[in-house]
Amino acid sequence: MKFAVVDGVRREAAPGLIGTCPGCEAPVIPKCGAIRLHHWAHRSMVLCDPWREPETEWHRAWKNHFPIEWQEIWHRADDGIVHIADVKTTNGAVLEFQHSPISPEERVSREAFYRPMAWVVDGTRLKRDLSSFCDALTYARSAETKLRAWIIPLGVSAAIDRWAGSRYPVFLDFGDVEFPLRWLPEFGLLWWLRYIPKVGAVATPVYRQSFIDHYLTGASIRGLARIDLRRPQRPWPGLPRLDAHLAGKRARKPRF
Ligand SMILES: [Zn+2]
Repeated sequence: MKFAVVDGVRREAAPGLIGTCPGCEAPVIPKCGAIRLHHWAHRSMVLCDPWREPETEWHRAWKNHFPIEWQEIWHRADDGIVHIADVKTTNGAVLEFQHSPISPEERVSREAFYRPMAWVVDGTRLKRDLSSFCDALTYARSAETKLRAWIIPLGVSAAIDRWAGSRYPVFLDFGDVEFPLRWLPEFGLLWWLRYIPKVGAVATPVYRQSFIDHYLTGASIRGLARIDLRRPQRPWPGLPRLDAHLAGKRARKPRF
């Protein structure tokens, strides 16, 4: 974990400090090696939150988009077990950054415990997840939504199938990679998945920064405006034809 209590104050791990776990109040020691992220570790092997997973750079980077006071928020369940929300906003929304696999049962219990919440899922853990997602996207039909989005049926993308049945939004983070459809930016996207029972998911590419801003300030999450290719485009005087632009291989960043 990133924070422990030292002399009554939440502190990050640093050499020479002795801290207390804010959950189970057991002593924790700073681990400040060169390889792993600096973190606090329990002296014994107890893991006070059974939902906890070892923290990666990816986790830490996501948490650090949000104020320190919102990170690693402790909750005690009715059964006395402690759970740590990765981020909890002042409105009470919980963000969970999920790298490791999670069973459907655990997902259901976390969704019931942290209400409301959203999942941000590390899409880079398994290489084949990206390739099967890209294949699915290549053949997916467009969703009739305001933003550009596609319907990905169940059974073609493991990453989509794994989160089927989620009650809360899932945002897949593949990092900065090139997606097969043209006219998508090559960086700064998350895939917002909304599940349709027994059908699949509506996958909407949204700007990662707008997701962060949404939870920081309440601003809307932004995606890409739909392009209706069936409508003939009239060239503007003095400008190259729009369809000539669209035929270009480079993804163009849309303006809003
Ligand atoms: Zn503890």
